[in-house]
Amino acid sequence: MAKVKKIIKNIRIDADKCNGCRGCEIICSAFHAEPKYSSINPARSRIRIITHRLKDIWLPVFAGEYAAAECSGRDIYVIDGKEYDECGFCRASCSTRDLFKEPDTGLPLKCDMCEGEEQPLCVKWCMHDVLTYEEREVEVEEEEEKPEELDIGIESLADKYGMQKVLDAVARMTKKDE
Ligand code: SF4
Ligand code: SF4
Repeated sequence: MAKVKKIIKNIRIDADKCNGCRGCEIICSAFHAEPKYSSINPARSRIRIITHRLKDIWLPVFAGEYAAAECSGRDIYVIDGKEYDECGFCRASCSTRDLFKEPDTGLPLKCDMCEGEEQPLCVKWCMHDVLTYEEREVEVEEEEEKPEELDIGIESLADKYGMQKVLDAVARMTKKDE
């Protein structure tokens, strides 16, 4: 298989420095509003701060891949004397929690590294050096195309309502536009 060069983008998290100010959630939701910067709603952010005030836990987590089914992992991790449950680290939009779901439609959200911007806005807006943007070039085997955001959205709607209902809705909408 042919080798191609690929840029891997990553945001490193130093959770110990996070004070839960939620500036990252604000800018992310504003950037992804329609039209851009027209509203702020942290529920639409692709980064969320998992908070447990009594345990002094402020854990930034980025939205990752959509997971159609609930997983079985329920382990507890103790790090520096603080207890974290496994869902706290999970980046998936899944059926068992509201995290990383668009609040109006229920569609899964995914961090897109602020496509089109020079650097991710949450990194730029975090005044406490919690988030660090990293890029590295790697050589990988040419892979099949990954599903686009649209495919993931349709898959999640089909999981929720069944594919026939989704197709019927599209047919109705197409008729309206004619
Ligand atoms: S902006 Fe930085 S310090 Fe504030 S909540 Fe986000 S990661 Fe934590
Ligand atoms: S990189 Fe951009 S899209 Fe991803 S969480 Fe940060 S602000 Fe949101």
